[in-house]
Parts: sequence; C-alpha cells; structure tokens
Amino acid sequence: MGNEFLENVLKTIKRGVEIGGFPEDLYKMLSKPERIVIVKIPVRMDDGRLEVFEGYRVQHNSALGPYKGGIRFHPQVTLEDDIALATLMTLKNSLAGIPYGGGKGAVRVDPKKLSPRELEQLSRGYVRALYRVLGDHIDIPAPDIGTNPQIMAWMVDEYSKLEGYNVPGVFTAKPPVLWGNPVREYATGFGLAVVTREAAEKYLGGIEGKRVAIQGFGNTGQWHAYWLQKMGAKIVAISDTSGTVYDPEGIDVELAMKVKKETGKVINYPKGEKIPDPKAPLYVDAEILGPDAMENQITLENVDKVKAKLIVEGANGPTTPEAEQKLYEKGSIVVPDFLANAGGVVMSYLEWVENLQWYFWDEEETRARLEKIMRNNFLKVYDRFEKMRSEKPKVTMRDAALVLSLERLYHAMKVRGWL
Ligand code: NAD
Repeated sequence: MGNEFLENVLKTIKRGVEIGGFPEDLYKMLSKPERIVIVKIPVRMDDGRLEVFEGYRVQHNSALGPYKGGIRFHPQVTLEDDIALATLMTLKNSLAGIPYGGGKGAVRVDPKKLSPRELEQLSRGYVRALYRVLGDHIDIPAPDIGTNPQIMAWMVDEYSKLEGYNVPGVFTAKPPVLWGNPVREYATGFGLAVVTREAAEKYLGGIEGKRVAIQGFGNTGQWHAYWLQKMGAKIVAISDTSGTVYDPEGIDVELAMKVKKETGKVINYPKGEKIPDPKAPLYVDAEILGPDAMENQITLENVDKVKAKLIVEGANGPTTPEAEQKLYEKGSIVVPDFLANAGGVVMSYLEWVENLQWYFWDEEETRARLEKIMRNNFLKVYDRFEKMRSEKPKVTMRDAALVLSLERLYHAMKVRGWL
C-alpha cells in the first residue's frame, strides 16, 4: 500500500476538485496535512527488554473543527498510510456534516503479540507522547484497526491524569461505563441500515420484503443485517471467511449472530444452503447487496455476476472504480462507503457532545439522533446526485458525495480567509 494508497487518495481529491469546478488552490490546501507528529514510545516488556515503538498523529485539516479520526495499531502501517487515512477522515467528516476536521493516528505494532500489561503501557505511552497536541477541543481520537474501547479507557484515563481532572471528550468509543454510549457497538451497521432503507425508498419502492445479501458478518455486517431485518427486509445470504449461508426464505439474523458468537463461524447456522465461497453473497438473487467485509471485492473479474440493483458499501473500498462504472452501466446504484458507513464517526460526535455537557441521552434517544443525521446526509447526497446526473449521465453517487464534501470544506476555508 503505502505511497500508492496516498496517491490514490490525492487523485480522488483532484478529480473532485475538477468535477466540482473548484479552484486548484483547494487541492493545494488538502494535499498536505496541517501537522504531522512522530513520537517514540518506550515500553518495558514483560521479559525485561526495552522496546521503542514509533507512533504518529496526522492532523490533516481543522477548517471545520477539531481533528477527528481513529488510532490504528498495525504491524505494517506506515506514515504515508496514516496521512492517507487522515485525509479521508477530513472528507468523511465534512460530508457527514459534523463539526470536525480530519486526523488519524497509528503505531507500528502487532497488538496481538503484546500482553495486556504491555498493551496498556503502549496505549498510555502514546497519550503521554502526544498529550500537547490532543484535547477535547483540539484532536479527538477513537479506535480503528487493532484498538478498542478498553484502549480508549486507558487513554482517557492517562490524559485525565496529565490534565489533573476528568476529560471525557478527548477520546470517543469509550466503554459505556466510562462516558461511552451503548449505541456505539452497532452504530456503523445501524447507520448503514438507515441509509439502505432510504436508498431503497428512492430506487426500489421501499425496503419492505426486499431481498438483501451481506458479505462479511463482523461488526459492520451483523448489525447491518440485524437492523435491516427489523426494518422489514429479508436477509437471504450472509458470509464470513468460513463460507456463505444462503436461504431464499430468509435468514434469522439474531440466531446467526448467536451462532457466530458461539462458534466463530457463520457456516454453522443450522438452516439454508451452505456455499464454500465467502464471496457468494455478491452473486445471489437479491435486490440489495451489502459488501461489508473488506476492500477490493467487486472487481472487473466478477462484476458481471453481481445482480443487485442497489449496492450499499459497508466496507471501505469494496468496489474498484472500474467495476463501479460497470455497475452503473448495468443500471445499478452504488451508495459510497464514506457516506454509508459514517455511522461510527457520527456516533462519536454524539458521544462527544454528551461528554462536553456531562449530560447523557438514553439509548433510544441517541439512536434517533443518529438516524436523523444519517438520513439527512443520504438525502442531501441523493438530491445532488440526481441533479448532477441529469446534466452529466456518467456521474456516480460517489462523485456527488465527493463534491458536497469538498464544497463544505471550500466554503469554510474561504470564509476563514485560507483560500
Ligand atoms: P470485522 O473484523 O468485525 O468483520 C469482518 C468480517 O468479514 C468477518 O466476519 C470476516 O470473517 C469476514 N470476511 C473477511 N474476508 C472476507 C471475505 N473475503 N468474504 C466474506 N467475508 C469475509 O470488521 P468490521 O469492523 O466489520 O469491518 C469490516 C469493513 O467495514 C472494513 O472494511 C472496515 O474498514 C469497514 N468499516 C467498519 C467500521 C466499524 O465501525 N466497524 C466503520 C466504518 C467502516
């Protein structure tokens, strides 16, 4: 990945600047982060050795508010990856309409190889090293790959100790007992379901009884399926690396979640047809497809086999640009990842608002607020997409979302006098 990932992100911005007719200066401002901090984090390991880890925090853009984005613990992560991820957060937060800029952090480490004590020391060390540039009005991290609510709890504790008082709003996705919110657990999947329902309303005449196939049955896919079933859709296929379960009569999602929790494999679900290929949900008869597993799943090689009319991207980057073009040629619509899977970061925003005012909503009220934001965001993009498409038929919903995101950033930077 590395440089290629970053180059692709920059190309995307360049394309958005062109399609939206923005001045070249917007690209210049967004192609570099405002600040990059590289730190060393010494940890005394359980066997007495000293390990020195390298950590990053990239603060990409703050035109719309404090920097916001996760912290990744991964053995192969590079600074270039982190810059690319921070840049994507600027675009995602702008599109989501929340008052945040973009940031991202990383430590090059394999967290699975650390003992709980070592992991805690690393997490606290990250905060000590970056204390001056973090803050509930400065930069607000959250979990990403390799980090979780327990790590957020250690981090918020360390930050609070340094500050001398409790600062709940400096990290989000904390455990509910430590100023987190129970909705966070399913926020991405719930947000996806809301967006899927709204898109089905526009393009399929409603969600009731529509057949849905979900690839990937992890945090994202399970809750996407769960909430869609509650909204009246029929889940006909689910998969994980163990294979695919297909049942045209409809899968009992709660039972499948129980089976997945207890056995680790979706394929142990007691009913339906079992297909060894984990990609099979992409090809079954269904009106709606949720590619919720990982990147680069729908490509030029297999796009002809995709039958769904509506594809709602839960994973980041599951459809390659060439395959997406083909899907549109076939008359399908792809709701892009950074619109559809923003439920997690929108929930982070709600948690932060709760934390700043020390006032907490109950689960239902939180969910209603999340639903409203996700719905409005989809409708905003839908309106722009249909308007742009009536003038330029080849435009995609991703193009429209990109233009809207850049537009908000452009206006904020312009009125501040940065452009
Ligand atoms: P996860 O690890 O909880 O789940 C991933 C699931 O996909 C697992 O069940 C795994 O078995 C399955 N899987 C892996 N490869 C597969 C394949 N080729 N075919 C079918 N299934 C496969 O991860 P997650 O948090 O659900 O993330 C999934 C995707 O969603 C990622 O692209 C992630 O970046 C994106 N995403 C997640 C969140 C979030 O809040 N969890 C937010 C935004 C985006």
